[in-house]
Formats: sequence, structure tokens, C-alpha cells
Amino acid sequence: MLIDTHAHLNDKAFDADRAGVMERSLAAGVERFVEIACAPAEWAPGEAFAAACPAAVRLAFGVHPEYIKDLPPDWLPGLKTCLARPAAVAVGEIGLDYWWEPGRREEQARLLAAQLPLCSEFSRPAVFHARNGRESGQNAYSDLLTALKGWGYSPKRRFRGVLHCFSGSWADAKAGLDLGLALGVNGTFTYKNNHDLRESVKKAGAGNIVLETDCPYLPPQSSRGKRNDPSFIPEIAALAASYLGLSNGELAARTTASAFDLFGEF
Ligand SMILES: [Zn+2]
Repeated sequence: MLIDTHAHLNDKAFDADRAGVMERSLAAGVERFVEIACAPAEWAPGEAFAAACPAAVRLAFGVHPEYIKDLPPDWLPGLKTCLARPAAVAVGEIGLDYWWEPGRREEQARLLAAQLPLCSEFSRPAVFHARNGRESGQNAYSDLLTALKGWGYSPKRRFRGVLHCFSGSWADAKAGLDLGLALGVNGTFTYKNNHDLRESVKKAGAGNIVLETDCPYLPPQSSRGKRNDPSFIPEIAALAASYLGLSNGELAARTTASAFDLFGEF
């Protein structure tokens, strides 16, 4: 069994054929999905989507740093209500984005700091988003990892969270692993020029990665420019397996075990 640990299947990109996408993904062996509802407007539709596929879909609820400008002042109680639901398995995606919002660093840091305690309060891991800026010195990874040094969440399971769509350096990866975070590996792992990323993933080892799409964004190399969906997970998994010297079956077993170590089994 394969798991897509980071999907945005409620995105309007899937409005015309969502059920068909789910069917195709299940037929491809992708049997579990973590849907990311990361803005207040996405929380109720996320719940409805998970309720329609109760065996296969779980949810992360949070506020993504890109949505900071539209955030109503009273967002926190609504987020807490969502995180109390049985289908909620994570807080996220939360973090720092210096690519799209380099001018709002302090606001982003405050939003992150407001959400980190929810992991302890609801016993849920975090799904972290970090994207460095265009200019040197706009290092979202180092700021995020520094902020996490004071994070008090200590779960019984192996991972405290995941650096989703990991795109940092090996030093960032190592710092993340030392903090109890898994690395999220998606279509970017297959991009021709991402040698350093593949090497970082190899050094981290198959036991520390989980697979994801971040669909509808970031399809693998064979389909760049098109819409991404969870049926691409086997293609990402196959490339990761060959790069790490594992069979497809071993890679699937290890990444699925890690996903359950992160979110709990479902
Ligand atoms: Zn995402």
C-alpha cells in the first residue's frame, strides 16, 4: 500500500473529476490520503470530503503562511474545533514562506508560534511548509528550524512532524531529522536538476521519508506542466526506490510505516 501524505484534493482543479481521480489513485495502489485544509475557507469542505471517504482520507487543519493576509481575527477557535474531530491527524500546513511573502516575516513567525502549541494541546504532529526566498539571507528553513528548538511537543510515536515538499540543504534535512521530523518527498525528487535533493534524501534514508504529491501542484518529471494527482505516487516511489537501492515493495512498506509513525495508523 502507498500513501499520499500531502494532497489538496479539494482544490478547484479537481471539481470536474474528483471521484474519478480518487478511483484512479486507488487502482494505482494509493490507498490512503492526508488532505491538507490550510485556510479557514478550506476547513469545512475538507471535513465533508473526508466524511465522504471515511476509510481512506484523513485531514490536516491549519493556516498556511500564504493565507496570512486574508485571515479573520477570530480564526483560532474555529481551528481548534476542527482539530478536535476524529478525522484530524495533523496541524498543518504551517510554517514560513519567504518566496511569496518575503515582506511578512514577523507576521508569519507570529502565526507559526500561535499554531505550534496546538500539537501538544491536541496530540497531533505538524505538517511544516518552508520555502526560501529569492534573495540570499531569506532562509525559511533555518528560521523554521530555529523556531522549533523551543517546541514542546513530544509524541509517543517516532515523528513529531514532517518537512513537507522538502527543498532545503542537507544541513536543513539533518537538523530536521534531529528534531524528530520526517522528510516529505514528492515530484520535485524526480526533476532533472535536483541532484542535491536526491542526495539529501539518500543520506536521510528510506526510514525517514514519506511520500506525497502536494497535488494539484508539482507533478513528476514525466508530466511537468500538467495537473498532479495521487495516481503519480507510484512513479515517485519507483524513482526513489531505484535511487535508494530498494525494491518497489520495500520502499512502499517503509514509507507507509513511516507515514503511520507520523500520523497514526488508518
Ligand atoms: Zn501543500
